[in-house]
Parts: sequence; structure tokens; C-alpha cells
Amino acid sequence: MRNFGYLRAASAAEAVQAGAAPQVQFLAGGTNLVDLLKYRVEQPAALLDINRLPYQHIEELPDQGLRLGALVTNAATAYDARVQTRYPLLSSAILAGASAQLRNAATNGGNLNQRTRCPYFYDVAAACNKRQPGSGCAAIGGHNRGLAILGTSESCIATFPSDMGVALRVLDAEVRLLGPAGERVVPMAEYHRLPGAEPWRDNNLLPGELVTAIDLPPAHFGQHYTYLKIRDRLSYAFALVSVAVGMRLDKAGHIQEARVALGGVAHKPWREPRAEAVLAGQLPTAEVFGAAADELLAGAVGQGENNFKLALARRAIVRACQQAAAGTPQSQSDKHIR
Ligand SMILES: Cc1cc2nc3c(=O)[nH]c(=O)nc-3n(C[C@H](O)[C@H](O)[C@H](O)COP(=O)(O)OP(=O)(O)OC[C@H]3O[C@@H](n4cnc5c(N)ncnc54)[C@H](O)[C@@H]3O)c2cc1C
Ligand code: SF4
Repeated sequence: MRNFGYLRAASAAEAVQAGAAPQVQFLAGGTNLVDLLKYRVEQPAALLDINRLPYQHIEELPDQGLRLGALVTNAATAYDARVQTRYPLLSSAILAGASAQLRNAATNGGNLNQRTRCPYFYDVAAACNKRQPGSGCAAIGGHNRGLAILGTSESCIATFPSDMGVALRVLDAEVRLLGPAGERVVPMAEYHRLPGAEPWRDNNLLPGELVTAIDLPPAHFGQHYTYLKIRDRLSYAFALVSVAVGMRLDKAGHIQEARVALGGVAHKPWREPRAEAVLAGQLPTAEVFGAAADELLAGAVGQGENNFKLALARRAIVRACQQAAAGTPQSQSDKHIR
């Protein structure tokens, strides 16, 4: 391992000032960043440990939403009674990810900022525009079984690997940031980027900006929701395709509102208003869910090894919508898909 400095931020102001320097990276739980150091994918001059900053709590908001501190662990978030009761979709998505040990160390801010799992990104001998701008993309025409089918570019076909982020997209969460120029709030929809011609930029964070919290608006998907994750193994594996759904039904069983987001298929959690418009006002049938899936997947293109994701995603969307409509969310403990 190469030498690097270690700094510990005593205050948020100190963190954003020091973090704006080139080659300085924030260290939270370290479950992704330390691996990237070992592989020499990241080679910072210094790590800036933010673990003592005051973002360790989950707080009530005046509008009956919840504020999730950036340094609250994924486990503490998933098992918080308020999250379990009011935002069960979020709890379920977090518990679908990684392992119990990892979730005990991984933080909410780190989860949003974790890097792609494209195998070439981790192989410093391979061409990768995300790791080394201008070097090419070995995944295009290469081993791309786990990679994107939506929103890709000629420069990169990577996916964003988070499960939590997919649920946050359905919940219309907002990300609170603190940077050298002050505070700002970014909707989840605008936090992550598509790769375009600058695939090295995963998100819209500015230099030195720190995620301080994630705000959840007042809850309304307590009954009809699901997080369905399709993966190679039943645990400890990233999504090939995942689907987060939140629905509200009226007394006659019509869909009043539906939100659907996909993971494992794009450089950001994928949501398409046209698909949700297809569902609004309809009875929850397989045909209607299939029509919504077609809208959600409009423009999807296989890259070779991952062509199977086109059919897999369509079936997963239909199944997830059926689970949500029936009020029988996917279990993250026995993991059998019913
Ligand atoms: C074997 C394995 C399996 C996994 N499986 C899954 C899975 O199935 N689903 C899933 O969603 N995840 C999975 N993960 C990823 C895991 O969830 C992430 O590694 C974790 O959430 C990152 O959080 P962290 O606090 O450890 O971040 P770190 O590793 O400390 O940091 C990650 C990145 O975020 C930046 N960062 C951290 N905090 C902040 C902040 N507050 N503001 C700005 N930038 C920040 C860091 O600078 C770094 O670039 C897996 C990880 C491993 C190792
Ligand atoms: S898909 Fe993106 S991350 Fe993977 S090799 Fe290509 S440029 Fe790199």
C-alpha cells in the first residue's frame, strides 16, 4: 500500500475546508474506500476521518418527516423503530444489501457515495474511463454481465450499486450538503449522474462538499411497498436488477399513486414518470404492470453478456408491483420470491 496521510476532522467547518484540497478524501465506515485503497484504485494523499462529526442521529422533522444523519450506520437506520414503521421500504432495501457486519460499519453518507462494482474499475491494468479518464472502457464489448442497460454512454456502462439509494429515490428523499460555500439541499433525483462524457463524476457533489444528512418527507407507503432484489446469490451480492415500489390504493382497489425505481440497471437509481402515469387510476393487474414496465424500460439496450437483464427487469417490475399491490412485501430474511 502506498503511504497516505490521516487527518481527523474536529468540526464540520474544518472538514469541508480540508476536504476541498485535491487528493483528500472523506473516510466514513471505510467499507468501500479501504478496499479501493488496497486495489490502488484510489490513491489519495490523505484520508480525512469524519467519524467524530455530529451527524450520528436520526431526528424528527417539523413536517413529520425524518432526518437521517450521514454518519448513522446502515444497520442503525434499518432497525430504527421510526424507519421500520413509517418507511418500511427503506428498512427493507438496506437489509437487502451487503451483510450484517458490513451494515454495522457502513454509513448512510458512505452508501450514497460508494463507487461502482464494474470489475474493470477495480482492475488497474484495465482501460476504464471512470478510474482513468480517456483510457477507454473495457466493459463495452467485454465482461459486462452486471452492468447497465439504461442511461449508458459511449464512455461508460457502469451501474450505481446501492440498494438504499433505490428506496430513497422512491421516497423522494433530499440530500443535505455542506461545502466551502455553505449548505444546500439536492433532491435524490439530481444527486447521482448519468455517465455521459464524464463518467468519473458519479454524482453532483462539489469539491469539499460533505453529505450531512438525508431528509425523508412525511411517509405514505407504509402498507403497499416492496424492495425486490434479484442477484446471483441470496445474500452478500449486488443487485443484477432491483425494484423499489411504493403504492397507494383507494377503497375500490384502484392505484391512486405508484412510484417505481430500479437498481442494478443504470448509473443512478432509475425512475420514469411515464411509467408511473400508466399505473395511476388503474386496477392492479399483470397487464397494467407489464405496460408500466415497458415504459420504465423504454430505450433499454443490452451490452452483450447482460442482454438477459432486459427480460429479467421486466419480470421483476411486474412481480414487485404485484407484491406491493397485495401488501405482501418481499421478505429480506427468508428471501424467497413469492
Ligand atoms: C462485500 C461487500 C458487499 C456489499 N454489498 C452491498 C449491497 O448488496 N448493497 C449495497 O447497497 N451496498 C453493498 N456494499 C457496499 C456498502 O454498502 C458500502 O461500502 C457502504 O455503504 C459505504 O459506506 P462507508 O461508510 O463504509 O463508506 P466509505 O467506504 O467510508 O466511503 C465510501 C465513499 O463515500 C465517501 N463518503 C463517505 N461519507 C461521506 C459523506 N458524509 N459525504 C461525502 N462523501 C462521503 C468517501 O469519501 C468514499 O468515496 C457492499 C460492500 C462490500 C464490501
Ligand atoms: S463501464 Fe465505466 S467503470 Fe466499467 S470499465 Fe467502462 S468506464 Fe470503467
